[in-house]
Amino acid sequence: MSVRVRFAPSPTGHVHIGNMRAAIFNWLFARHGGGEFLLRIEDTDRERSTPEALRTIFDAMEWLGLDFDGEPFFQSAHLDAHRAAAGQLLRDGRAYRADKGGLGKGECVVFRMPPEDAVFTDGIRGELRKAAADMSDFVILRADDTPVFHLSNVVDDIAMGITHVIRGDDHIENTFRHVALFRALGAPPPRYAHLPMIVNAQGKPYSKRDGDAYVGDLRARGFHPEAVFNYLTLLGWSPGDDREKLARAEAVRLFTLDRVKSAPAQMDLRKMTHLNAQYVAGMPAADFAAAAREWAQSQAWWREPDETYFRGVCALMQSRTHLYSFIAEWGYFFADDFAYDEKTVRKLLRKEGAGAALRAASAALAETDFSEAAIEAALRAAEKERGIEEGRINQPVRAAATGLAHGAGLYETLALIGKDRVLRRLSRAAEELCGA
Ligand code: GLU
Repeated sequence: MSVRVRFAPSPTGHVHIGNMRAAIFNWLFARHGGGEFLLRIEDTDRERSTPEALRTIFDAMEWLGLDFDGEPFFQSAHLDAHRAAAGQLLRDGRAYRADKGGLGKGECVVFRMPPEDAVFTDGIRGELRKAAADMSDFVILRADDTPVFHLSNVVDDIAMGITHVIRGDDHIENTFRHVALFRALGAPPPRYAHLPMIVNAQGKPYSKRDGDAYVGDLRARGFHPEAVFNYLTLLGWSPGDDREKLARAEAVRLFTLDRVKSAPAQMDLRKMTHLNAQYVAGMPAADFAAAAREWAQSQAWWREPDETYFRGVCALMQSRTHLYSFIAEWGYFFADDFAYDEKTVRKLLRKEGAGAALRAASAALAETDFSEAAIEAALRAAEKERGIEEGRINQPVRAAATGLAHGAGLYETLALIGKDRVLRRLSRAAEELCGA
């Protein structure tokens, strides 16, 4: 039997990383086994489904490289089939009409749960069971003739020939009902595999409050899609060892459901950022430059630079670009009107002696060829002259030249920015920003 799985998001808002991880696991499972990965848009809730939300789903999938087979299946185009299934269940005595809740809103179609315990074998958790006494009949078609999630979900899984349903463990309770619906409709239930919840450091469901919880946030913050793919792949699954970096092709080759863990998977943005830094550092220089240019171009300070100079900046900064959003700080490489970080100004420039130190540095630097070695020697000489402890002048010089207290190696940075610009900035800072 060839594998057919689906990702079945509801287009009602942002795409949570939990959903995307379900998409990734389905994709890996299909690609590993030469099966098909389908996309089903669960848009039966017409009020909550929006075109923007639909767009975010397609964007997120494309960004993460989750190509799907065939055309997307829109649930809203199959409402008649859902209603017909309800009709069949009524005719077969597996459902009945009732005025649920006595609201006088008319009669719903209610599915009659079978009298025995519900049991299914989950691909991750093993046998799951729920006592018949703990389950009750449930509505499948509302009084206004709109199908309920359970009915649409099952009828479409049958229509699409889905062999495996891989989804979050928040659906386990639903699955007891879904298995009963499959049987009542005369179709064998697919195999189910429920993925462990993604939790924060406190073990609570990972949410917006814990940091970037939506795929769009990760993208906007400058994560590399392959790093996100890698991180989410290992969130609840492992190839059997404890490696953290795993290329996509390798994940496809190794992915099996029996290695998915049942314990909650802890999301740690710090670790994910660390992994991202490795991906960015490992990119071919030209790819990094292309990505960096895209990020830089949207910044207010952007001026089209000389390409060789731009490549120089990229070479210097690539290994420090843990997230692409760090590129927003690159203004000092390209323009004189970059913003000075206020805390840096307060701590390093607006204090006694800073102005005099900068003037001494400036005078010494003016006499050099501005090579890295010459810059270093000039700064040591300026320190001697002002009686400053060795190395201590670097910080105010960095602050004056870049507006920041951190960055790549100072001598390399200054050499790249260039003598004229650096000297201009040192004197401007000495005059306008420094204490006496
Ligand atoms: N629309 C449901 C969800 O996003 C689908 C669940 C499923 O995969 O069956 O949770």
